Amino acid sequence: MADWEAVVGLEIHVHLKTRTKMFCRCEAGFGAPENTRTCPVCLAHPGALPVPNGRAIEWTIKLGLALGSEIPEHAVFHRKNYFYPDNPKGYQISQYDEPLCVGGRLAVPGPDGDEEIRFVRAHLEEDAAKTVHAGGATGRSVGADYSLVDFNRAGTPLVEIVTEPDIRSAEQAQRFLRLLRQTIVELGISDAEMEKGTLRCDVNVSVRERGEAGFRTRWELKNMNSFNFVGRGIEAAVRKQIEIYERGGQVEQHTYDYEAATDTLTIHRTKEEADDYRYFPEPDLVPIQPERALVERLRGELPEPPGARIRRLAEAVGYDSAAELVSTGADRKAVPLVEEGVEWTVAAAVAMNQLAGHEPLPENYRALAEIVQKRETIPRDAYTASFAASATRPIGAEEFLSQTAISDESQLGTAVDEVLAANPRQVETYRGGKEGVLGFLVGQVMKQTEGKADPKVVNRLLREKLKV
Ligand SMILES: [Zn+2]
Repeated sequence: MADWEAVVGLEIHVHLKTRTKMFCRCEAGFGAPENTRTCPVCLAHPGALPVPNGRAIEWTIKLGLALGSEIPEHAVFHRKNYFYPDNPKGYQISQYDEPLCVGGRLAVPGPDGDEEIRFVRAHLEEDAAKTVHAGGATGRSVGADYSLVDFNRAGTPLVEIVTEPDIRSAEQAQRFLRLLRQTIVELGISDAEMEKGTLRCDVNVSVRERGEAGFRTRWELKNMNSFNFVGRGIEAAVRKQIEIYERGGQVEQHTYDYEAATDTLTIHRTKEEADDYRYFPEPDLVPIQPERALVERLRGELPEPPGARIRRLAEAVGYDSAAELVSTGADRKAVPLVEEGVEWTVAAAVAMNQLAGHEPLPENYRALAEIVQKRETIPRDAYTASFAASATRPIGAEEFLSQTAISDESQLGTAVDEVLAANPRQVETYRGGKEGVLGFLVGQVMKQTEGKADPKVVNRLLREKLKV
């Protein structure tokens, strides 16, 4: 049997979180009632003229710089012609052969060192309206009873990033996407949330025998809406294509929808060739000529890339934890704790758990670090409360550290006795060999003492008293 390898390239669509749309002053963003954020420009009334959103152009350049792209001195908006109900103009303003960002590469730290994924380009365009297919079983246009169009999304700024087919596995694709997403989020240009559709991904997949030069026919998987589905979709496509080749068949070029629930690929539509879109320069817009001073200013504003942080952190906490910490930005919450003397693994756990929901104020870190260091000496409730409080006001360590945990054995002994008396069934279960119920009993004592008991002492007392 042949030794196959996957060849994967991605097209990633990122919604920029500008306040207004790409070519008009309508408010962008999600959640408004349908068709309330529209105007003659984004509804394509005759004679309405587009005016480009300067911030969207700057943010696209900034993203390109973060991805190592070249920013050409001349970029052009093109009309991409196609007829569909989500596109009132009959064309989309996009970019064609002169995009804002050309080339680039991202070094993605992996368990076995860096993997480099190259970019073809990144360009700026406007999004289409949103169609909702109602009735029928699948929620797709085929078989639906009717379709509705919401034009709030029409004309919102969208960056399309195209990679070279450098990805060789589903796992690598997910690793790359997580790092790319975090890079985008930290630039402050998009929330890049797949569940909300502010980050969307099309996947091009083919296979070839290892060592084979050139590429075979590829499939395009459309609109994957989670990293997990991207991985599973790639795996499903690779499996099917290998099956076809090993049967002696040929893979035909198609576009597929991946149905996560059934793990199946269904044909979406046959791929249109680029010239079907009859691209031509947008006559209502002048070319973009980014000033070099602007490009250099934006380059100077780039934050430290998340990839570099994973590499550095991996030495302290291992690759897996480093990747996880950085992929949520939790590492930036852990660093100040580490600087105040908290051990890395402890700080990492605190950042991912207690600090997951909120950004503590910088002046809180010294107090939080002290509380974390002395967490064994205070009641669990006080520990939790300190993080909650730090989210809303500057805290001092003393107000939480002054609450002492009850470790007095005679005092706790009474509570333990009461809990044992009230839960004879659990006591019997424990004595029957199922020590797992101990956690429940500890919990009951904690409850009885309003969270003030020292869990270590409670644990020991319970074990002693439960010995027959
Ligand atoms: Zn508008």
